[in-house]
Amino acid sequence: MGDGSNPGWAIPAERAEAAFADYKPAYSAGQAVAEAWRCLYCSDAPCTQACPTHIDVPQFIRKIAAGNDEGAARSILAANVLGTSCARVCPVETLCVGACVYNQLGHPPIQIGRLQRYATDRALDAGWRFDHAGPDSGRSVALIGAGPASLACAHELRKAGHRCVVFEKRDVVGGLNTTGVAPYKMRADTALREAAWVLGIGGCEVRTGVEVGREVSLADLEREFDAVFFGAGLGADTRLGVAGEDLPGVYGAVAFIEALKLGVVDLAGVRHALVVGGGNTAIDGVRELLTLGVPSVSLVYRGVQAGMPGYAHEWSAAQVKGAKAEWHAAPVAFEGEGRVQRAVLGRMDASKRPTGDTYTIAADLVLVAIGQGKLGALLAGLPGVRIDKGVVVADADGFTGRPKWYVGGDARNGGKEVVNAAAEGKAAALAICRALA
Ligand SMILES: Cc1cc2nc3c(=O)[nH]c(=O)nc-3n(C[C@H](O)[C@H](O)[C@H](O)COP(=O)(O)OP(=O)(O)OC[C@H]3O[C@@H](n4cnc5c(N)ncnc54)[C@H](O)[C@@H]3O)c2cc1C
Ligand code: SF4
Repeated sequence: MGDGSNPGWAIPAERAEAAFADYKPAYSAGQAVAEAWRCLYCSDAPCTQACPTHIDVPQFIRKIAAGNDEGAARSILAANVLGTSCARVCPVETLCVGACVYNQLGHPPIQIGRLQRYATDRALDAGWRFDHAGPDSGRSVALIGAGPASLACAHELRKAGHRCVVFEKRDVVGGLNTTGVAPYKMRADTALREAAWVLGIGGCEVRTGVEVGREVSLADLEREFDAVFFGAGLGADTRLGVAGEDLPGVYGAVAFIEALKLGVVDLAGVRHALVVGGGNTAIDGVRELLTLGVPSVSLVYRGVQAGMPGYAHEWSAAQVKGAKAEWHAAPVAFEGEGRVQRAVLGRMDASKRPTGDTYTIAADLVLVAIGQGKLGALLAGLPGVRIDKGVVVADADGFTGRPKWYVGGDARNGGKEVVNAAAEGKAAALAICRALA
């Protein structure tokens, strides 16, 4: 594809994710204006400080209140070009909304994400564009991966007139926005629509189906481009390493979620699903299986609820849907004839160490959500680039220390949120622009 205006990233019309309703539905214009009028427009704006991309929240909300939707969208997207997805997927309870002063006053906080969604959806629907590609600088940058980090980076680079070539190993762009984020927050087609809008700035060539390190070497990129941005995210689901893990019916959670977002998963006959882990991906998996009609879905976690790394508000939402849990437990083995039918769980003590006791429960589907591998090893052969526990080490601007090489997003921070990837991609682009000036 060329400039993002006619992408052609085909995803099947029949997708399991179509079963999911919006968890936080769109505001009408009247609802948006009414919510905007509640804002106190605090001069110190704790919401803006809490946002990793520092969107001027009071400013854009004031514009919505005044009926200036285009101005509101301009303010948001100038700070964060991925404002459309962030509006839907940001854990606002721990970021901007969590910082709203109304929380201290005992009133419901301003629904910043929903207001942001209202304004950015208006921009995409109306086709408003606020940035244009700069005059050709004669310089070119390669970007590895087409996820949020690279999209934010490429957009900023194009404003400076640097030619961008994005290498993406999948057939679709958008990274985990397209393949991983829970469909009740955002569906794959919305992620692709946003990516097309971002790339619509023009002058970004996207080569999908090309894996760097396999089809294209790092040496090729370093030779052919003036800078390289590594935005490859994280790797495959981590395995438990227990007996029976290869039985049909046992999946890595991120791979399973990708299958349901981009196609159809067959859950006929599944009655007892287990999701192993205590993070947000595990909680997403529980909520997704319940929504798809699996009658019994239990989280299996080594500790108790209070110690789970996943957000408490996400787990509360899962419980409302009927989620159950096996606390102080971890799989020891999966068993079954031809496919998984049972899980043998080991009991854990308060320090999450095995007690030696085991018990067996029914399980005809298992999602393993205990993390993803790190991809930093891909750069390990480059002198001057340091890898720490699989993560690429860089300065605050994403510079790795090796001339030309920059990093941002999950590959750099070890796995945070879309808004962090957007912030890091943009920061790296600005650093690249300074280096190429
Ligand atoms: C299941 C799940 C749910 C999540 N839910 C949320 C949420 O609700 N809210 C939120 O804010 N964040 C969420 N996150 C985290 C968020 O998705 C990530 O932080 C964000 O997508 C990171 O962006 P990135 O660009 O760094 O990496 P990615 O989004 O992972 O994109 C990297 C891209 O690089 C490609 N790639 C990898 N290796 C190569 C290679 N060698 N050559 C070419 N291309 C390559 C990949 O195919 C991918 O498209 C979730 C994560 C997961 C796993
Ligand atoms: S990008 Fe996310 S954290 Fe920042 S203001 Fe918008 S919803 Fe809040």
